[in-house]
Amino acid sequence: MLWSMMEISIDCPHCDSPVHVDGPFLKLECGKCHSGIDFPKDVWKDTLDDVRGDVSGYQKGEGSNSNIFGHFNMRMTYGRLDPYCLKCKRDFDMKDEYTEPATIICPDCGTVAPVFPASDWFREAVPGAALILGAWPEGKSGPESEEKKSQPVAYSCPQCGGSLMINGEERLIQCQYCSTNIYLPDDLWLALHPAKTKNRWFIGFH
Ligand SMILES: [Zn+2]
Ligand SMILES: [Zn+2]
Ligand SMILES: [Zn+2]
Repeated sequence: MLWSMMEISIDCPHCDSPVHVDGPFLKLECGKCHSGIDFPKDVWKDTLDDVRGDVSGYQKGEGSNSNIFGHFNMRMTYGRLDPYCLKCKRDFDMKDEYTEPATIICPDCGTVAPVFPASDWFREAVPGAALILGAWPEGKSGPESEEKKSQPVAYSCPQCGGSLMINGEERLIQCQYCSTNIYLPDDLWLALHPAKTKNRWFIGFH
């Protein structure tokens, strides 16, 4: 099987923030303004038209980067790479046939990667596409990413100096000692809510 790694991001048509396209999805959501964004099948077709042909001409590890101005302002990286564990970089032992969604567990670090047969619309849009790895099938969410499970952070109440544990659920909190309402400062809030990292996923072609 010929594998291509994919990294795609688009500018949100509503607020211009970058939105990572973490898999072959027809609907995305902007993490900043929370607008729903349609990513139509025809746009997938135009976007990935050349990928199979290009990748088959590449050596392993070769790829290309492009900026596309069309239906979306888009940045795309793809290249010839066999699927590997994104955490510890170990190559996965792939079977060539997966007839239903499955998960691969990295034997070294235990990271779970989903693999599933490309859906019918995706096969029509991108001829030769057979398997998708590293993206969660549409409508199913994966395990909470590590970014989301941030640890509570200690913070001193600016009013009374009391030590508070901040878990990042609410930005406006009340001090448990002096009852002052505290609006958490930007740096603390950003530390609790780091920007989502770009997700790399893979397409396996026949
Ligand atoms: Zn937006
Ligand atoms: Zn691993
Ligand atoms: Zn206080």
